[in-house]
Amino acid sequence: MSDSCIFCKIVSNETKATVVYRDEQVTAFRDIHPVAPTHILIVPNKHIDSVDTLDPEDEQLMGHIFTVARKLATDEGISNGGYRMITNTGTHGGQTVFHLHVHLIGGQRMRYPMG
Ligand code: 5GP
Ligand code: ZN
Repeated sequence: MSDSCIFCKIVSNETKATVVYRDEQVTAFRDIHPVAPTHILIVPNKHIDSVDTLDPEDEQLMGHIFTVARKLATDEGISNGGYRMITNTGTHGGQTVFHLHVHLIGGQRMRYPMG
């Protein structure tokens, strides 16, 4: 837990969010500024700055995030249409909150190009 991290505060219930899923490893909640009908952030419960600071021991955790994303996509009814997952990493990657998170967005056709 990082004292100043907004996503740590959501994980610990210090800050309100619309939590849609929670287990011992991850928390998923709706993005405060959704860019699509479904826009959920999936975060590890432990603080990790970004993909760039992942340890090899975090491999299971990262796989779990994808399994949870798939379940949430089904729950949200966006599986058939398809969806996009994004993890911005570092300044050039467009990361603004430095607690690793995966965006799950769907419910509309995504636009290209990325980047
Ligand atoms: P990034 O730009 O780091 O990939 O994504 C950060 C995301 O977190 C943004 O989409 C932003 O809207 C969302 N966000 C930032 N602060 C909060 C907050 O306090 N609550 C929620 N639910 N989302 C937040
Ligand atoms: Zn954090």
